[in-house]
Amino acid sequence: MQLVRNFRLGSYHDVGLIGSISHRKFSCARHSLSQKRIEAVIIGPPGSGKGTISSRIVKDFQLDHLSSGDILRSHIQKKTDFGNKIAPIVTSGQLVPFELLAPLMEHETKSSKSPSGWLLDGYPRSLQQTERLHKTSAPNVTIYLNVPFATIIDRIKSRWVHIASGRVYNLDFNPPKVPFKDDVTNEPLDQRDDDKPESVRKRLEVYQSMVDPVLKFYRDKKLLIEFSGTESNVIWPEVKKFLAQFQKV
Ligand code: AMP
Repeated sequence: MQLVRNFRLGSYHDVGLIGSISHRKFSCARHSLSQKRIEAVIIGPPGSGKGTISSRIVKDFQLDHLSSGDILRSHIQKKTDFGNKIAPIVTSGQLVPFELLAPLMEHETKSSKSPSGWLLDGYPRSLQQTERLHKTSAPNVTIYLNVPFATIIDRIKSRWVHIASGRVYNLDFNPPKVPFKDDVTNEPLDQRDDDKPESVRKRLEVYQSMVDPVLKFYRDKKLLIEFSGTESNVIWPEVKKFLAQFQKV
């Protein structure tokens, strides 16, 4: 299949399938081409490769990586007043209340030091957070990694662990020497309940219902750029090419 590379901005544009990646562009703000700073949000389900793509973006474009999860964990580790307050919420896997998190993330964007801009990761993830962010530090692009659930489920399904040591194997990329046996002890490997297909599917469905209104918000504002594909190494060059336009004047 021919590789279509067309990052013309300004109007709705559906590029269709490109090998294993497709990206659908909604008219990204016209002025982006003349802007140097990137003020971006990245959205993608757990297991979509968001971590990999985010770290490549911040490295290649010298952006501040504003990951809500990392910022919250750092407060907890440093035992700040804020950290002590949110620790029980974060450790039990619940969402940090809007009134606590929104001012923190607003402060993070406003105090970001990188002249190239910032990448918000993990925030916003509700409509309320999105609307507030738009009033205080509106992003100029939202990158959505649309990786099929089936791909994510398949990937996580291949993860097996040796519970006692915590050694993790992947049957596709990092298989044990003897199938389903730990390399060191030869004991049987297990699959975490969380990694079983049904649990992963449920987690993904909960995630999707939470971010759908966020995606709609950015799509309506013509700020959503969607990258669909199954492999980070294929998606990444397209993301990079797209973002590179911001730094060309
Ligand atoms: P993460 O590393 O993105 O999985 O986030 C870790 C934890 O931080 C989550 O389980 C929540 O408790 C909290 N958190 C991170 N981002 C948000 C958010 N946008 N809204 C509410 N809570 C959040």
